[in-house]
Amino acid sequence: MKSSHANRMNRPLKEVDPEVYDAIGGETRRQAETLELIASENFTSEAVLEATGSVFTNKYAEGYPGRRYYGGCEFVDVVETLARERAKRLFGAEHANVQPHSGTQANIAVYETVLKEGDPVLGMDLSHGGHLSHGHPLNFSGKHYRFIPYGVRRDTETIDYDKLEQLAREHQPKLLVAGASAYPRTMDFERMAAITRAVGCLFMMDMAHIAGLIAAGVHPSPVPHADFVTTTTHKTLRGPRSGLILCREEFAKALDKTVFPGEQGGPLVHVIAAKAVCLKEAMEPEFAAYQRQIVANARKLADTLAARGFRVVSGGTDTHLLLVDVYQRGIMGRDAEAWLEKAGITVNKNAIPFDQLPPLKASGIRIGTPALTSRGMQEPEMELIGNWMADALEHMGDGRVIERIRGQVRELTSRFPLYTLRLEEMQAPTRTP
Ligand SMILES: *Cc1c(COP(=O)(O)O)cnc(C)c1O
Repeated sequence: MKSSHANRMNRPLKEVDPEVYDAIGGETRRQAETLELIASENFTSEAVLEATGSVFTNKYAEGYPGRRYYGGCEFVDVVETLARERAKRLFGAEHANVQPHSGTQANIAVYETVLKEGDPVLGMDLSHGGHLSHGHPLNFSGKHYRFIPYGVRRDTETIDYDKLEQLAREHQPKLLVAGASAYPRTMDFERMAAITRAVGCLFMMDMAHIAGLIAAGVHPSPVPHADFVTTTTHKTLRGPRSGLILCREEFAKALDKTVFPGEQGGPLVHVIAAKAVCLKEAMEPEFAAYQRQIVANARKLADTLAARGFRVVSGGTDTHLLLVDVYQRGIMGRDAEAWLEKAGITVNKNAIPFDQLPPLKASGIRIGTPALTSRGMQEPEMELIGNWMADALEHMGDGRVIERIRGQVRELTSRFPLYTLRLEEMQAPTRTP
């Protein structure tokens, strides 16, 4: 007979913890019934969710495949090897480390591998689209290294490569960090690599936002040009929330040592399993078609908003995201975000280059299409949504207009279902909140 303790292990979440169960149900419905336009978000496949929720969460596996500090790693080695080999094959890289828990952890690992405390590093200006982990004063990166910001030109709002070269010659950095969280244009990795060769520094590209586009050949790849390439796996790549690092063979050993034991303890094996799944999905032809549609959708949204009189930063987009200068119409990014959310449209306020407003108010909003494209939406839906956004922004404070749009959003999302099985399962809360 089973002990009562074992019996208590086999109860469903609904019974064990109705509060958490209902919060998951609420979030499932929120994701299903709103329009997700946050550029860093996406919806993973059910296969990725299944791997993330697997029994690998129980396993300690410090070390690397074939060299572990714990027994019982036979199947862990299978999934980590699959993830590493697929990452190398997908991006054409010499070495891959799939253990970083996040994009920031991946960046810290590269910094710790090649830099000493206080070393000069060039990174994209945070107010021009750079990321927290590229030198923000409150972040590990900004506290431990001397980041020198480069940015975009005032006239074109695209990266000023001439100025970047000048800064590199002047400051003699140890590392150039490329990559951004809010940059809508193609990046010129050949030019950046030439600059690093000219001044004798290393080159790291953080492709967190555009990894999916790169995997599909929709954006040029940094892998032939950079010493290190870091990424998150949950943005355009459409995997679990996590990170990974690619590098040249010469840095492989040192990098692996920095990740473990240097920076992390046990890897999140369930998430590594899910990374392996998303990398497999990214090799399928449908994935390339999906990435092309993401860009087509972003262009359509940009065109629609421009036609309604909104200024699109840099005049458009080559990628999955666009920045809209709402302050040019007298609207703060903060308020635009809040009113769009009431209408069921989720975006985030964002600084635009040379912003006159502080970051918490911001002159812009950042809009991305990866998540809606994962639901199967195409150009006709983007045109509808772009016009609803313009309507909402032009009628902020008008409850009737916002309610009308909220209804239209609900109707549209019901035609593009997401996680259908899970939604039905979660439909009935255990109690009213
Ligand atoms: C999102 C992002 C990261 C960090 O990702 P986390 O997983 O949230 O730590 C790093 N770099 C860039 C450019 C990003 O956009």
